[in-house]
Amino acid sequence: MRYVSTRGDTAPMPFSEAVLTGLAPDGGLLVPERFPNVADRLDAWRELSYVELAQAVFRLYVDDIPAEDLDAIVADAFTAFDHPDIVPLVDLGDFKVLELFHGPTLSFKDVALQILGRVFDYLLGKSGQHLNIVGATSGDTGSAAIYGVRGRENLSIFVLYPNGGTSELQELQMTAVPDANVHCLAIDGSFDDCQSILKSTFGDLAFKARHRLGAVNSINWARVLAQMSYYVHVCLRSEGPAVFAVPTGNFGNIFAAIAVREMGVPIKRFVLATNENDILARFFQTGIYRRGAVRQTISPSMDIQVASNLERFLWLRFDRNPARVKRFMADFAKSGEAALGDGKPTDEGVDALAVDVSDTKEAMRDIHERYGYVADPHSAVGIEAARRASRSADGIRPVCIGAAHPAKFPDAVIEAIGHQAQHAARHPRLDRLDAAAARRTVLPADTQAVMNYISENASADE
Ligand SMILES: *Cc1c(COP(=O)(O)O)cnc(C)c1O
Repeated sequence: MRYVSTRGDTAPMPFSEAVLTGLAPDGGLLVPERFPNVADRLDAWRELSYVELAQAVFRLYVDDIPAEDLDAIVADAFTAFDHPDIVPLVDLGDFKVLELFHGPTLSFKDVALQILGRVFDYLLGKSGQHLNIVGATSGDTGSAAIYGVRGRENLSIFVLYPNGGTSELQELQMTAVPDANVHCLAIDGSFDDCQSILKSTFGDLAFKARHRLGAVNSINWARVLAQMSYYVHVCLRSEGPAVFAVPTGNFGNIFAAIAVREMGVPIKRFVLATNENDILARFFQTGIYRRGAVRQTISPSMDIQVASNLERFLWLRFDRNPARVKRFMADFAKSGEAALGDGKPTDEGVDALAVDVSDTKEAMRDIHERYGYVADPHSAVGIEAARRASRSADGIRPVCIGAAHPAKFPDAVIEAIGHQAQHAARHPRLDRLDAAAARRTVLPADTQAVMNYISENASADE
């Protein structure tokens, strides 16, 4: 399997290169040159355990790592999950919740980042090279990335975050990790400052090459691939075609589901759910992709107005025509607005809805009252959207993505539901985090200061 760029100006490359490259050199995203049709394998796949299924899906898209090594990476990644079913499906009657938050940092990002960290370490170990991962986070991704690479020999990680701009719990999930290859950089500035420092650091190509900088952001193909297995898993256990409700920010998780539909797996519909940052909901409703101002909500991992993974969907939507992708992206870069402009729905199989903060809180309260279930604010956005969209689902009970454990967002949970949710707003993994062991370095919002720190602490090839 080779990977091509959505913008068409990059030579096709094998999986390992696609993973280490991240963004294609022409500025596009890497996509597999085809999505193998698996319709005639589904019966055989029904016999597989979750780990075996994930291994089978990976093997379809990776042919430059020996199969037994790849299987070992995938199997080992899921040992980091503490639920016997790894991704349990909880039946609440009117709908089901696919709980993806039983990994080390309690959000669905662990599914992909536990695998990606191991893939990186494996590939680097083969070539005897080191990689220094640099990323910026406003909360959740940082800890999942850190847990994916902590203690791995061939990798170091530097995470920039706004000093005082994350919740204390989110910060502690990063800073309490004791491994020497983990560096938490609290920047005296905003999340935008962190991102712009990151951009300038990667923009210094000599510096980037000297220290072998890499990224684990959500556009990495291996992250999408890792997320595809749980959609296949649910479909194999459904009576008929499935309906999925997915809370969406960067369009990563829902793109994995769309890729699974592309493989001939029976999926009836998707419910794309956003919070007030509704650029994607509007795009799927109107065909017009128009930037808005970012609003802070109680589902911060979806407070995003530019969805970095959308380009992969556009590539499919434009019949894999890079010229049309390029035109759309150029229009958007220039004016903050781009349109499909062909008068057809963005995707007939997608119902797109935005749920605001007050309706999210009301949904959390109602879900608790009716079903005795405590949903985190992100999952609640998806569940509420699924309930509103149920008319078009032909009576099929939706499978809603459980994106994060409610204990990650205790304030929102208690505010919405009250103190009867207190037990659910705690988790032993979070209780065990040791504030006394926290390590971080405070730096000014200054690119040079960050680059100096990286130079002094980067790991180098042997
Ligand atoms: C990252 C994240 C999202 C958004 O997922 P995308 O793949 O960016 O669409 C939603 N909820 C939680 C809890 C997250 O961590």
